[in-house]
Amino acid sequence: MSSSFQIDFSEAGATQRIIGIDLGTTNSLGAFMDLTGPAIIPGPDGEHIVPSVVAIPESGDPIVGIEARAMLTTDPDRVIYSVKRLMGRGLDDVKEELKLFPFRIADGSESVIRLTIGNKTLTPPEVSALILKQIKTNAEAFFNETVDQAVITVPAYFNDTQRQATKDAGRIAGLEVLRLVNEPTAAALAYGLDKRKEGIIAVYDFGGGTFDISILKLHNGIFEVLATNGDTHLGGDDIDNLLIAVALEDIQSEWSENIRGNQEAVQILRKAVIEAKEQLSFAPAVKLSLEWRGKAYQRELSRDVFNKLITPVVDRTLTPCRACIADANVTVEQINEVVMVGGSTRIPLVRTAVEALFKAKPHTELNPDEVVALGAAVQAGILSGDVEDTLLLDVTPLSLGIETMGGVVSKLITRNSTIPASAMENFTTAVDGQRNVLIHVLQGEREMARDCRSLARFDLKDIDPMPAGLPRIEVKFLIDANGILSVTARETRTGKEQSIEVKPSYGLTDEQVEAMIEESIEKAEADFIERQVREARVEADRIFKAVDKGKQNQAWDTLSDDEREAIQKVYNELILAYHSDYYDLIRDKIHELDQVTRPLAERMMNTAVSVALEGTKIE
Ligand code: ADP
Ligand code: MG
Repeated sequence: MSSSFQIDFSEAGATQRIIGIDLGTTNSLGAFMDLTGPAIIPGPDGEHIVPSVVAIPESGDPIVGIEARAMLTTDPDRVIYSVKRLMGRGLDDVKEELKLFPFRIADGSESVIRLTIGNKTLTPPEVSALILKQIKTNAEAFFNETVDQAVITVPAYFNDTQRQATKDAGRIAGLEVLRLVNEPTAAALAYGLDKRKEGIIAVYDFGGGTFDISILKLHNGIFEVLATNGDTHLGGDDIDNLLIAVALEDIQSEWSENIRGNQEAVQILRKAVIEAKEQLSFAPAVKLSLEWRGKAYQRELSRDVFNKLITPVVDRTLTPCRACIADANVTVEQINEVVMVGGSTRIPLVRTAVEALFKAKPHTELNPDEVVALGAAVQAGILSGDVEDTLLLDVTPLSLGIETMGGVVSKLITRNSTIPASAMENFTTAVDGQRNVLIHVLQGEREMARDCRSLARFDLKDIDPMPAGLPRIEVKFLIDANGILSVTARETRTGKEQSIEVKPSYGLTDEQVEAMIEESIEKAEADFIERQVREARVEADRIFKAVDKGKQNQAWDTLSDDEREAIQKVYNELILAYHSDYYDLIRDKIHELDQVTRPLAERMMNTAVSVALEGTKIE
């Protein structure tokens, strides 16, 4: 700045530094916007990458990163890794994870998962916060100033709860999370693909324990996630396990000793195998060796043999790719750019396979384990005004709505809507003088509330007593750019308002999202019928009530016997139809009853009957 005045940079208005963070399952990384572009924040020992591993020693401060990972060999019970798998999820969601990962879940974790280490318990956001704090500390040491604002990346399929949990982790670490950015979007930003204005981009992310494929559409410099797919249990770890299995076989035949059961030996072997695997990305052959209790094992591993071994693993990434291309409704030829993300895309065979599938050379110019963090830094630059703005759009993976009468779901925001998104719909009451209205927020594709996920419930209280159908209740849904949903209900006559930020008690995996969508397709017909029946019954209830009320009215006595008989006859027929599944019949009888009660309605001073025949009602 060319000012002759002294500027106090700590004052409000001075540019605050915002860092970008890739909070990964295996590794995490911080980056910032340099004068020339995004750059990685180095750690104290020059190591960039912070393994997403936390160790809680019996006394003293938690240990994060390389040192914590090393403790997996010496003190595995005090080490937590892969905690990202638990973020924003409930016990039911993680049953499968628990079979594969040695998470130690504390008792009473039904609503919020807690991990036990020694005599301490920690929630997943608290563990993630320790990783974020390490990156914050590294940044502060590097810049020699405090850093308290960040952009954090999340998988594109993360739902509201998982995103909220990530924001919580930031807050616990003392970071204000200005924006959550989808990992594939960040990768595209790191490559400056937003500059091309138009195009379809595939982001292939093969990390340590997860595989994600995303297809983005860029339109007028705006990113939109067209589709995502992947496998939450497929990554570099699978390759490591394959190599370990082969080595263990070898060792057994060479030493006539089975070391499989020895945790420490296997951990040492795992380290050796990972080193060998990573070198093989650059060398045609490597030596894999293990020294254990005075014995030595050594084996040469060529890239050819390695490729043969891992072909099935690499092939497993291609099925989700094809499904994703189909979901995005694009052809391979329409995809303009392919971006490689994740440490495992350093493997030459992976690059060849991706190139063959997409018929295009993928971007590998940037370090694949750094691109997401670099993209987060670009987004941070946009937020601080250092970089020209790019709008980032993402989509909601599942529909969102509320429960209405008869247990039916009224969807306000449909699946795959671009976010930020908002929607508003009017509802009314079902009972005369109703003071409270329950707003039940649901997520899913099914027609019945009981088949969807319950996200939240709240009451709109103390509305003025009015005849049923008279109050006008506006329900507003808003999903912000970070994917967090807020729901507001307002009774417009009295102005009574109640809102909620949805932070459900547990979340979803992408497999579950997929399963829910599949299930909704499978059950579509049955659901349709049930919905029709339920809605017809709600309508029938309304007319029964209106007729019952009419019978109490003096107008009833002014009707002729024939008129009264006709009403009673149709009334009884509707009762019969009501208990069948023939929604057409219920509707017909409602219509008939409506016709025959017209003289009654006309004669009634009170117009409540006709009023009661309008509007959708909330429980
Ligand atoms: P995540 O996004 O899952 O947190 P990364 O993108 O950092 O993780 O990927 C970590 C994985 O990448 C590990 O399995 C690691 O062994 C693997 N990896 C890192 N470098 C190489 C390499 N040179 N060759 C093969 N695999 C590698
Ligand atoms: Mg990653």
